[in-house]
Amino acid sequence: MTYKDNKTKILGLHHVTALSSNPQKNVDFYAGILGLRMVKKTINFDAPEVYHLYYGDSEGSPGTLMTFFPYPKMAKGRQGTGQLTVTSFSIADGSIGYWMDRLKKYGVEHTTPKKRFNDEEFIYFEDTDGLGIELVTNDRDYREGYNYGHIPREHTIKGFYGITLNQQSHKRTADFLTGCLDHKVVAEDGDRYRFSPDGEVGGIVDVVEMPSGSMGRGGSGTVHHVAFATSDDEAQLEVRERLASTGVHVTPVVDRQYFKSIYFREPGGVLFEVATNPPGMAIDEDPNHLGTSLKLPTWQENNRDVIESNLETITFDAMEFMD
Ligand code: ZN
Repeated sequence: MTYKDNKTKILGLHHVTALSSNPQKNVDFYAGILGLRMVKKTINFDAPEVYHLYYGDSEGSPGTLMTFFPYPKMAKGRQGTGQLTVTSFSIADGSIGYWMDRLKKYGVEHTTPKKRFNDEEFIYFEDTDGLGIELVTNDRDYREGYNYGHIPREHTIKGFYGITLNQQSHKRTADFLTGCLDHKVVAEDGDRYRFSPDGEVGGIVDVVEMPSGSMGRGGSGTVHHVAFATSDDEAQLEVRERLASTGVHVTPVVDRQYFKSIYFREPGGVLFEVATNPPGMAIDEDPNHLGTSLKLPTWQENNRDVIESNLETITFDAMEFMD
């Protein structure tokens, strides 16, 4: 099902969206401990009684956006095959010691630093719902992260490094990434197969093969879907046409206010999205005040009172998370 096209339409990762339980604990972990900027506080457009919280760099750039649907009473899921199991963030060489100290200070258990693919050093830990996170060091990432937050600039999380998908067999997912989504084979290390559109930090997709792994189950602490970035509406429609012509069941374009989206499942079962980079997080909010007030899509503004009364109040004070 290889699609021949002379231009790359998929530019890397756009966002990762996960399920969580308590929204305040989610804010404390991602905005507080990890020091990402909360760039948007809105609702799940398909379930307006639930928040949709976005964290990212100073501008909420594609490739830095970790987002959550916090369902306060959601039961825990189980990590396994057919899932995105680890979201990896990029930090500078020399920052791993800072992060180990910081995680320890806030009672977050983490692994000792490990290595793979020769130069890549990382630590693994989980958020308060059990979602798998890595911090990966490298000297190739010039993004600045949230550069006026409460984490020292040299140690800030710069954005995504990449993601890990667990599959019982890597082959079908690999063929899908390379055949339909402009990814190339980058490297192989044991049971870990690495793909990326351009080889750059931020767009890495690792497929880890676990032939006897048990299937994951959705719930809090699991990823709901991953979105790949594309430049504009036209490129998105071309990808949509490409997918449809190879028999992939893909949704029509959906307006998500900050980007437009199409959704489809890769052959291993992970829900994929392709999202447009424009219009971005500043479409309904002053860039200096991203994430500070509850934003609703225009079609829900009339229901603001009811929606607000159904959401529990969340607060954030960076001073509580200073070193
Ligand atoms: Zn999404």
